[in-house]
Amino acid sequence: MPHRSFKTSKPKSTITILPDLGVTEQDFIADFKRYYSHRLGRDENCTSPHYAYEALSMAISDRLIERWKRTYNTYKDTDCKRAYYLSMEFLMGRTLSNAMLNLGITEAVEQAMYDLGLEIEELIESEPDAGLGNGGLGRLAACFIDSCATLQLPVTGYGLRYEYGMFSQDIVNGEQVEKPDHWLRNGNVWEIERPEYTHRIKFGGHTESHIDELGNKRTSWIDTQDILAVPYDTPIPGYRNGTVNTLRLWKATATEEFNLQEFNAGDYAESVAAKNTAENITMVLYPNDANENGKALRLRQQYLLASASLQDVIDSWVGRHGNDFSEFAAKNTFQLNDTHPSIAVAELMRLLMDVHGLVWGDAWAITRKTMAYTNHTLLPEALERWSVNLFKQMLPRLMEIIFDINAHFMAEVSAHWPGDIGRLSRMSIIEEGNEQYVRMAYLAIVGSYSVNGVAALHSKLLQQGLFRDFYEFWPGKFNNKTNGVTPRRWLAACNPELAELITATIGNGWLTDLSLLKKLEPFAEDKKFRKRWYEIKQGAKQKLIDYKKLEHDVDFNVDAIFDVQVKRVHEYKRQLLNVLHVIHLYDRIKRGDTANWTDRCVLIGGKAAPGYYMAKKIIKLINNVSSVINSDPDVGRKLKLVFLPNYRVSAMEKICPGADLSEQISTAGKEASGTGNMKFMMNGALTIGTLDGANIEIREEVGDENFFLFGLTEEQVEEMSHHYDPNAIINQDEDLLRVIRLLECGHFNQFEPGLFDDILASIKSPHDPWMTAADFRSFIDAQKRVEAAYKDQEHWLKMSILNCAASGKFSTDRTITDYNNEIWKLAPVSIKF
Ligand SMILES: *Cc1c(COP(=O)(O)O)cnc(C)c1O
Repeated sequence: MPHRSFKTSKPKSTITILPDLGVTEQDFIADFKRYYSHRLGRDENCTSPHYAYEALSMAISDRLIERWKRTYNTYKDTDCKRAYYLSMEFLMGRTLSNAMLNLGITEAVEQAMYDLGLEIEELIESEPDAGLGNGGLGRLAACFIDSCATLQLPVTGYGLRYEYGMFSQDIVNGEQVEKPDHWLRNGNVWEIERPEYTHRIKFGGHTESHIDELGNKRTSWIDTQDILAVPYDTPIPGYRNGTVNTLRLWKATATEEFNLQEFNAGDYAESVAAKNTAENITMVLYPNDANENGKALRLRQQYLLASASLQDVIDSWVGRHGNDFSEFAAKNTFQLNDTHPSIAVAELMRLLMDVHGLVWGDAWAITRKTMAYTNHTLLPEALERWSVNLFKQMLPRLMEIIFDINAHFMAEVSAHWPGDIGRLSRMSIIEEGNEQYVRMAYLAIVGSYSVNGVAALHSKLLQQGLFRDFYEFWPGKFNNKTNGVTPRRWLAACNPELAELITATIGNGWLTDLSLLKKLEPFAEDKKFRKRWYEIKQGAKQKLIDYKKLEHDVDFNVDAIFDVQVKRVHEYKRQLLNVLHVIHLYDRIKRGDTANWTDRCVLIGGKAAPGYYMAKKIIKLINNVSSVINSDPDVGRKLKLVFLPNYRVSAMEKICPGADLSEQISTAGKEASGTGNMKFMMNGALTIGTLDGANIEIREEVGDENFFLFGLTEEQVEEMSHHYDPNAIINQDEDLLRVIRLLECGHFNQFEPGLFDDILASIKSPHDPWMTAADFRSFIDAQKRVEAAYKDQEHWLKMSILNCAASGKFSTDRTITDYNNEIWKLAPVSIKF
């Protein structure tokens, strides 16, 4: 590592101002140097790029503060209607390069760092990912707040500041090993602690009721064990527009008296240790994707998020309006990211009634006009339920309120469908049985004015299946908001070469109006343009190889088709189907069936939930198949398989520009939307996919001729599930039979007998909900069409360009515009200087 000595002479750069930051480059460099040497106390002897990264980030974030305060105060002073995005997850990834892009200072800062003898890339790489989420749901929240700021909408993100984010994944002997992700170890220069907005959160205790002077029943929640929620704010700059919105994350801490009680009893050490119990609440992110798990600590987290965020909004409201809540619903709206924060429905009732003195009817009218709920899953096993007993113990007042909400709701239902007992029990927020449960999705639906799914098919299936009774009751509540991704991070920042070509061709309007990418369409016919497109894709593939080389010694070939599946490992996403295809290709090579071969590099990455047995087996299988194939001299360059460890946001930023083929192969009807599919499309990858989630809309936008479709439809899956016979399918398909035999004879687990028996059993089970065998033939045939298409490079390039050109719909700017027009109804606020 080179020593870092900064030149003291004037930089040679010709770019002398950072106009968007209101500062000259010289002043900016002076800031940087002052932070580096005075605040961080480093000099030329320091070889770690981390401190230069910190100094740079401090210099940039300094210049954001003025705008941030101005945005904050403008919202407050104009008393505009505001929205709050409540989410247990914000999968932000890195901040530095995105901040530079949105501030319009990327080139100038690169130049400034270069003049100082620093490699900007190295500084960027030294930032840890903020991995405060599992996958798609958390990344969606991050893309949403970027788009809200860019659209100048007064929206605040509320979440939790986990001390440990998503675990880091090691692969040891082919198996996933989880390592804790202490992402805050070296501090976080982008956040500001704001203890002045601390709120008190109650747990435990019991309730007492009395009748007040007006004859209303009043309840107090007493003898509670309280903790404090302290906010940490991160600035969210819009794209070159002066708006800086806020992401406010709560950290749990102990109250003063919490310690004092014990201290007076003489147990000083115990009392300090007890502080840990309070702080444990926001210690770690639960690493389960699409899976409910019912742990008490998780319910504490959910309540902390809901209560702290609602108190924050209400305190600010009371500061401006006193205890007059008549306009509260007209001026505030909460979007619930899945059911995780849906206890907010009951908590808003509690705060309005118990703390601010409203009566039930008024509080309920406000709540139902204030909450909006987004559903993210069709898997019944992922729908959250909490045991009533746990609820009563931990949150007795909230449990009472939920029972009251349910009683009112059941009365509404029975007035609408008199005598329909079946419907009452189906729709009840309380699930009866040996043990009672609270159905959080139903609480969210009953307490909200809007319920949306995240892709057209998903929203339709919610209305016809999971939430059918509710849809029949309130058809007007239900709507669709197809997901998106932010084109700033997922095209402009992660693929600057492609972004530059696009801007040089059609201008830079696409950065804030992605539908303009349509203008690229005619250039698919332009040979010179295609050549540039090709060079950029090949360059990105080479970069991906270099990046991958850090962890692997596999010899990848840049002319092979790069076939990529990166996402959480889950049976419904069918990484297994992908591996079966790879084994089939291997089998073809071994039996000499290689006429007209297309070389292929298959890249698979993703984390499995630590307790998800089958997902972990699938990771092991991928790694075992990979080591057999990659070391077989008969295979050579024809086929490679690599498992990419520790898939995360910063990895995807390198992966999606270098992909030729995007694998979106979930069982139809199981993937709510998918957003990885959109990132790949934007970067010119072609999709091989089922008619599931947003794949359907991707295919509609780009046209069937530019999409590799395969597999059963959702209706066919549903129909076939009643008489599914995988063994018959296997026996009738020579190729599949051979693949299964290779697995059965232990070809990929020579020294680990029986290792994949459970995987084999799942494929052969007539109850396999993912129907892997059913889609095998159609998948293999579609892959053959891919190979043929890739052979005609000029045609492939046209398809690649057309995919990018048709990706405009999948910008979160469009998604958020839809949320705003149809749900939130906020007026944009421009920030004046
Ligand atoms: C986009 C993204 C996801 C979501 O991927 P899907 O293919 O939609 O499941 C998950 N994790 C990370 C790190 C992402 O960037």
